[in-house]
Amino acid sequence: MRYADLHLHTYHSDGTRSPKEVIDVAQSHGLEIIAISDHDNLAAYYEIHPYARERGVTLISAIELSCLFESVDVHILAYAFDPHDERIDARLRGFRETRAQRGHAIVERLRTLGYDIKAERVDQLAGGGAMGRPHVARALVEAGYVASVAEAFDKLLGTGKPGYVEKERFRVSEAVSLIRGAGGVTSVAHPTLYPDHERLVPKLLDGGIDGIEVMHPDVDALNRERYTNLARFRGKMTTGGSDDHGSVKTSETLGTIKVPESMIGPILERL
Ligand code: AMP
Ligand code: FE
Ligand code: FE
Ligand code: ZN
Repeated sequence: MRYADLHLHTYHSDGTRSPKEVIDVAQSHGLEIIAISDHDNLAAYYEIHPYARERGVTLISAIELSCLFESVDVHILAYAFDPHDERIDARLRGFRETRAQRGHAIVERLRTLGYDIKAERVDQLAGGGAMGRPHVARALVEAGYVASVAEAFDKLLGTGKPGYVEKERFRVSEAVSLIRGAGGVTSVAHPTLYPDHERLVPKLLDGGIDGIEVMHPDVDALNRERYTNLARFRGKMTTGGSDDHGSVKTSETLGTIKVPESMIGPILERL
């Protein structure tokens, strides 16, 4: 039996590890099937595909998409789509551009509030990948305004906080058709993190999402069982992953979630 982690971030979005580090650390935990699901960016897949093959790791094309569904920010994971699909490439490039503009808008807002952080530093931290609030948060930590990324979100960057700026998002229906059109499948990321999730998740399945991420550090045993049963009852798949961002969040999670390959047949059979 092989084990998988299907939810991982690198420095091509808001993680701190390189794709190679992700593969190496994952392998050291006995993980042999890997999906790097950066926000709005496939760069890690292209970069590490040859290395993964060399190391005997099965690499699955993946992406995490921020979607708007009934005014809730829902994250949708997409897997095993054609990584060279031109529509996906164009859409992701557009999202990365608007992410950078929005990142700069957040910096401007914070500067008017008296936080002297620099757009150039946030650009550097984003490293040309998908810029996000965690990069601004790290700049705030470096400048000494907050003690941690979590505190930056609590005080300034979280929804409705003084430095919050909306981000362009997919409609769920568009995400579904885009990924299906490229031969892939979708799954509701970290289902317990949404308000009123017991009502929301079934609606997402109605909307064409193919599965639910039942194994995740923020999904407790009771909810894992609830959503495994829901998926089974609705003929949907289940997925799982550690959502590791390296050292951005207070604890690293890579290695804490080991998804048996028997769970993810619908993804593996697409490779
Ligand atoms: P963005 O895509 O720019 O809206 O930023 C969202 C990202 O910020 C998520 O993918 C998480 O990685 C991170 N994040 C969200 N909320 C928090 C929080 N309270 N503390 C630390 N990181 C967070
Ligand atoms: Fe993230
Ligand atoms: Fe997420
Ligand atoms: Zn994630």
